[in-house]
Parts: sequence; structure tokens; C-alpha cells
Amino acid sequence: MSGPNDNYDPKQVAALSAEALEAMVADAEAAFAAATTTADLKAARLAHVGEKSPIALANREIGALPPAARKDAGQRMGRARGQLNAALAARQADVESAELEAALASESVDVTLPVALAPEGAIHPITGLMDLMSDVFVAMGWEVAEGPEVEAEWLNFDALNIGRDHPARGESDTIFVAPAGVHRVLRTHTSPVQIRSLLERPLPVYVVCPGTVYRADEFDATHVPVFHQIEGLVVDKGITMAHLKGTLDHLAQAMFGDVRTRFRPNYFPFTEPSAEMDLECFVCHGASVGNPDAPCRTCRSEGWIEWGGCGVVNPRVLTAAGIDPEEYTGFAFGMGIERTLMFRNNAADMRDMVEGDVRFSRALKGEAR
Ligand SMILES: [Zn+2]
Repeated sequence: MSGPNDNYDPKQVAALSAEALEAMVADAEAAFAAATTTADLKAARLAHVGEKSPIALANREIGALPPAARKDAGQRMGRARGQLNAALAARQADVESAELEAALASESVDVTLPVALAPEGAIHPITGLMDLMSDVFVAMGWEVAEGPEVEAEWLNFDALNIGRDHPARGESDTIFVAPAGVHRVLRTHTSPVQIRSLLERPLPVYVVCPGTVYRADEFDATHVPVFHQIEGLVVDKGITMAHLKGTLDHLAQAMFGDVRTRFRPNYFPFTEPSAEMDLECFVCHGASVGNPDAPCRTCRSEGWIEWGGCGVVNPRVLTAAGIDPEEYTGFAFGMGIERTLMFRNNAADMRDMVEGDVRFSRALKGEAR
């Protein structure tokens, strides 16, 4: 074995001493820890473990050591390099993970931010109100019934006790479907759905029929040739006018809140007795009656406004549907959807309801559920 000073260069020993290697490792680890980006870390790696780094230079000196010192120095060098590689790998993982998170944060989309890519639409108030009114009856266990808009003349008129000579059957009121001999019309009311319901359903019948109807009317502020109704029909044993009044009072309260109603005698071919249902004027509450100083345009100072027609089903209508009027009775009613919409929203011009301007729908979107 060689003695401590045989063939031995003190400078080379100094670079490979435990203290010197520890200092190199400490410098390198500090540089790795200070690096916050991949580029920083690459520079630190080249400086501290690259080919020209102090530790690489020191490594080259191992071969010049005397054999006795080479083993110790090699082990120290191996531990130092292993420690640095581990420190570098750990820092590399941290830096990459931090960079990935930063990239995700900066590139992420906040889906909760408000956008206005397209104007918001709205359910048409007529549709919304038909649903709303139907729901009042569905909640009472009634069914919603629908029928075709091109209707057999017999169902639209004859079955409803509207005779051949009735003025409503004239061409000035009814839109007939060509050719003339097919006896088809664009339904002038939703009442044929009531007849269809009686023909198709087992008794008792509790149906509400919302839908589009057609009349050969002018197009102005208070008339449109295409409009909407909701009709109701009950046929059961022991049905009276009192059931009708209670049902319509419930509907009126659902639509207008706490409002007074009254029945006023009228005539319809398909009900007997028949009535118009009036609502107490929701503008003046009757205060304008006999008070010329405070006239009311809404009710024309009459205190009441007409809402719809109703009555006890005419026995002839029951007979037409094959039902024994001695055993069953019923009531029916019909309201205009446009008119109800006007009352609920103070909409004055029916043309607004058919022109499809989305601003109208948006303003009245409270009618949608
Ligand atoms: Zn009034």
C-alpha cells in the first residue's frame, strides 16, 4: 500500500475531498431550488452537473488518484452525483407541474361568465297563457283534449245545435275549405273538440280544450282572423249551474287574483241556460259607474268586463253525441286567450300578439311557466 504522500497531488485531493463535494452539492441544490422555470432549471443543470461543471471536472480527477484513494473518492463522488440527480429530478417534476397548472389556469374558460351571443327568445305569451290556464284544470284532475284545426262542418256546427240557417255559418264569418262539397271548415271555435271528446271518451268527461280558431274577420286592433280559445266541458251525473259557477270562479281567481264575477243571461245554441261571465273591472272596481267625473275606458264605466260564455250543455248536444240527457248533465264554457292576455297585461292592441315581435314576447314572458 502506498503511504499518504506517495505520488499524490494536493490540489487534486482538495477537489475530491468530502468538504469540497458537499459544497458543490449544496451549491447545485440551491441553484436547482432557485430555478422556477424549465429554462432556469436547464441552466442550473448545465452549470452544476454538466460536462464543464465543478463536479464533472472533479470526477475526471479520480483516475489520477493513487489506487488507494480512488475507491473512497469514487464512492463519495457516486453519492454526490446520485444526490444531485435525485434533487434535479424532484425539482424538474415540481417545475413542470407548476408550469402545467399555470398553463391550465391561464387557458381555462370560465363557463359562468355572462355571454350575449344571440338574443334571448321567449315562449309566445299566447302559448304560455294557454298552458297556464290548462294547468288550472289539470290540477283539478281534468284532461287536456285537442282536435284538428280543419274540421268537419258537422262537428263545428250541426253537432253543436248550430242550424243550417244560423248566421255564424255564413261565409262572412266562416272560412270554408275548398272544394265546396267536402263540408270542411277551419274550425270557428274549439267546441268541436268537446263533441269529439264526448264521442271518444267514456263518461264522465272532464276536459279542457285549448287551441287555435279561425274567423273571416278583419285584422285590426280588436280583431284578428286567427285567434285562440280555451273551452271546458264537463258531463257527469248531477252536474248543475252551481258547479259551473264554482269552476269559473276558481279559474278567475287563478288568473286575476281575488276578483268578483257575475253571470249575465245570454244565448248560445249549444248551452241552455246560457250566460256571459263578467269580471269586476280591475281598473276602476266599479267606481266609474254613474260617475261622469271619473270615467273608465276599460269597462266603459259599466263596472264589469265580459270574459267568456258558458252554460249548461244543451240536451240536444248530448243527444247528438249519443248520451242520454235524462241521465247525464253537463256544463261548458269558453274564453278567448287573447282577451285574457289583454286583461292580465293591459295589452291594448291584438295585432301585437300576432306580429311575432320578440320584444312583445319578452315583455310578457311572465305568462310562460
Ligand atoms: Zn272600469
